[in-house]
Amino acid sequence: MQDQIKTTCPYCGVGCGIIAAPQPDGSTSIKGDPEHPANFGALCSKGSALGETLDLEGRLLAPQINGVASDWDNALNVVADTFNKTIAEHGPDSVAFYVSGQILTEDYYVANKLMKGFIGSANIDTNSRLCMASSVAGHRRAFGSDTVPGIYEDLELADVLVLVGSNLAWCHPVLYQRIVAAKNKRPEMKIVLIDPRRTMTADIADLHLAIAPDADVELFNGLFSHLFQHGAIDHDYINNYTNDFTDALDSARELDSEAVAQRTGLSLSELDVFYSLWAGTEKVVTLFSQGVNQSHSGTDKVNAIINCHLATGRIGKPGAGPFSITGQPNAMGGREVGGLANMLAAHMELENPHHRDVVQRFWGSPKIANKPGLKAVDMFDAVADGRIKAIWIMATNPVATMPDASAVENALKACPFVVVSDIMSHTDTTRHADVKLPSLGWGEKDGTVTNSERRISRQRAFLPAASSAKADWWQMAEVAKRMGFSSGFNFANAAAVFREYAAQTAFENNGTRDLDIGAYANISDKEYSQLSAFQWPQAKGQITEKIDKRFFAEGGFYTSDGKANFVAIHAPKQVAKTAEYPFTLNTGRTRDQWHTMTRTAKSPRLSSHIGEPFVEINGADAAALNIQNADIVRVYNARGSIIVRGLITERVKAGQVFVPMHFTDQISANARVDQLVAPLTDPISGQPALKSSTVMVERF
Ligand code: SF4
Repeated sequence: MQDQIKTTCPYCGVGCGIIAAPQPDGSTSIKGDPEHPANFGALCSKGSALGETLDLEGRLLAPQINGVASDWDNALNVVADTFNKTIAEHGPDSVAFYVSGQILTEDYYVANKLMKGFIGSANIDTNSRLCMASSVAGHRRAFGSDTVPGIYEDLELADVLVLVGSNLAWCHPVLYQRIVAAKNKRPEMKIVLIDPRRTMTADIADLHLAIAPDADVELFNGLFSHLFQHGAIDHDYINNYTNDFTDALDSARELDSEAVAQRTGLSLSELDVFYSLWAGTEKVVTLFSQGVNQSHSGTDKVNAIINCHLATGRIGKPGAGPFSITGQPNAMGGREVGGLANMLAAHMELENPHHRDVVQRFWGSPKIANKPGLKAVDMFDAVADGRIKAIWIMATNPVATMPDASAVENALKACPFVVVSDIMSHTDTTRHADVKLPSLGWGEKDGTVTNSERRISRQRAFLPAASSAKADWWQMAEVAKRMGFSSGFNFANAAAVFREYAAQTAFENNGTRDLDIGAYANISDKEYSQLSAFQWPQAKGQITEKIDKRFFAEGGFYTSDGKANFVAIHAPKQVAKTAEYPFTLNTGRTRDQWHTMTRTAKSPRLSSHIGEPFVEINGADAAALNIQNADIVRVYNARGSIIVRGLITERVKAGQVFVPMHFTDQISANARVDQLVAPLTDPISGQPALKSSTVMVERF
């Protein structure tokens, strides 16, 4: 039998365990790990096809400077020298890192340490900003910390499971299958889907509410008001464990039920069915994803949901609580080590002077960033207007995925110095790199990731490095040393980075911070190599699976007084459609592709599901525009234009269209949908509104 290596899927935030076995013929067999608590052996189509995506075609195999192959020493020196020179001439805020939920926690840790603790700027942000920044901001406002209170088991234990802005069937398929199994076992379990679009997830829903785009605040404020009106409030929980209930309730009651119906596009009877079900059921989980987060009111949506759970004390209990599910494999790990421009390492906060002091003393660093850095959209604006003169992009493709993507492309074209670390040689973004650095891919790299239920799992190497590719953490550490930071970056391996990160979570942490995995600070390289998936919280100083893994059933919030904050939420202004651009553009995933398809497009099996870009359009709209099914159509607005196939469907309502996010100029000319997306962001989280731009559609 070949070696069987336990590792973790590199795709979605479910974080499934995988057993990979390289075969003598060079292929790799992939199966689900039956012992991993996220998936118990199950895998979805993407995970099970991973073995088909491991060839070297298209890989970046050696460093390049201005398109010419180089060696590591030379390339790293150029990066370090250029960053140093830029900082010397223009200050630390003239440089930036833009990283990714695809990199490992160890990579994130070193990048964050270099930028915030040694360069002294907080200009490090991540494509996770596009994924879950609104959840982070909402959790912090309510709980005083970025803590997801529940665990996956709660989704199976709930009597009512509400899925908001989440196509779980396609985007988190193994979790979806766990829910299907739970419902088959307990058919009385009710599932509600809240989504403007009738996605595949509607197939298991008892109730689908086709809400108007971005009307979630109104819907959940209406629920809060209903809970109060119908005596479903838990006064003991509110009195003992929360602040600001009355203000939040007052704002929730600003709209009466007719106004809620009008804003949400739902009938009074649909609202009543949903509200009565929620109010009358103790075990309710409200799971939310990108339809909530990717919005100009994303943080308010998150808090409108959390308000309802706080008001009923339905939080941190088996089968009850708000639940944010992340899109990427390591968005959570990135959050944990402070990979966002407004966070510090180990869930400490950049704006908190005590936290800054703790982090700086732990690192023994010469300086510490003392103000938030630029969030993703602002960061590329700063590249465009010349404030940022050197940027290092790692494991992500912003020219295809940022809002107003063509403006991002122009900004990078004009930027004096662009470094891109990637596994692929030719992406929309590597085209504009002065220096390209080859990174290890999945199966070659080694480290940890954290899934949506706070479970830390190992990604293990089972293949040799592709030619001279190197770990992302190593690249950062080598540049740090060459920039003159002689201490702080002498990590022998990923295990050494993990030990330092684990120690930092426990440093001067006397239960005042949620994240403490200090018990792992002294594990040996061998123990790290054998580390089983584990979940935090961990009992202080002990490695154990025996404590309750939920948070907040009996208060214990991480605010200054230990109480949760209700947040007063007002109905947001909606994005106005015009006669010129009368359609709301929704973007999202398809079942079998991942991000910009660098890996999944290698599998013919995956591409046979949906192989070309399309726009879903309602039958009435198609008829009015004289569009037949499968016609080639143009979707456009003032920012740009894409050419895709029209797909007539009742899944989208009239006045809305849906285009998948995956297709880039490398995959299919003229299908890069994010060039149409307005650079509109949530004012609190900075997360872009990727689902509410306005467009026109016409036959091509
Ligand atoms: Fe991978 Fe997500 Fe599929 Fe699990 S559900 S196999 S983590 S893509």
